[in-house]
Amino acid sequence: MQGVIIKGIAGFYYVKTKDTVFQCKARGVFKKDGVIPLVGDMVEIETSDRGSAVINAIGKRENEFKRPQIANVDCFVVVIAASKPEPNFSVIDRFLVTAENNGAKAVICVNKIDIAEKSKIQNIKKIYENVYPIVCVSALSGYGVDELIKLMRNGKYALAGPSGVGKSTLLNAIKPEASAEIGEISRKTSRGKHTTRHAEIFEIASGALIYDTPGFTSFDVIDIDSDELQHLYPEIAALYGKCKFRNCMHIKEAGCAVIPAVTAGEMHGLRYASYKEIFEEITANREF
Ligand code: ZN
Repeated sequence: MQGVIIKGIAGFYYVKTKDTVFQCKARGVFKKDGVIPLVGDMVEIETSDRGSAVINAIGKRENEFKRPQIANVDCFVVVIAASKPEPNFSVIDRFLVTAENNGAKAVICVNKIDIAEKSKIQNIKKIYENVYPIVCVSALSGYGVDELIKLMRNGKYALAGPSGVGKSTLLNAIKPEASAEIGEISRKTSRGKHTTRHAEIFEIASGALIYDTPGFTSFDVIDIDSDELQHLYPEIAALYGKCKFRNCMHIKEAGCAVIPAVTAGEMHGLRYASYKEIFEEITANREF
């Protein structure tokens, strides 16, 4: 039977199949090979007549992260506060670049629109429109959360964004009552002994799976290749092959197709600024 690991605690893994959650042990061979099953792993399980279940195989991971330790994120919901704290677009673009670099999609969720001036919200929309889906919400009042939920279907979603943008509040706003069932299992087994917050997955009505973690608060982009970076900006990737020189890095080269696109407003200046900033960081890092 196939399923997905939705929780791992004290040597047990909770595997959600089509309609049941099984408490499983992992085969000893994983430990021997140094493989740790992760929340988000697609697994093959075998159940016995006595009701016990084991994980027999772990599917190939699409991606894998350390903090939080999860696997197979299909889409990142990059959360931005429209105000308090003011958005730092360089930081936000690092989340987007990391999503792209891991083969994941990205959705931008602008939170705290109830306390921000309209012009600030419009400004954020201008930067990312035509690049990523954008949804504006107030996690606190619940405004717009339905729209975000509508965007989340098929696949596994994780929240990412700087601290203070309201990821936890947003997570609670999208968490359905149905997750109580999974909570039930965790209460029985954990008995309050494990105070560490483990990553978990819950399901929403659309069938999308959401990683229940405080989310990603930072990403390191320096391990990306400098010539790979251009492919992680959809606006630049769309112009691939249009520059005069094949090895154009779109910084100041003659015949570059990206620079005029920025001047013409087809790519937002702040997006291009963050591209250059990250590019320089990567190349400077490489020189040492
Ligand atoms: Zn170029």
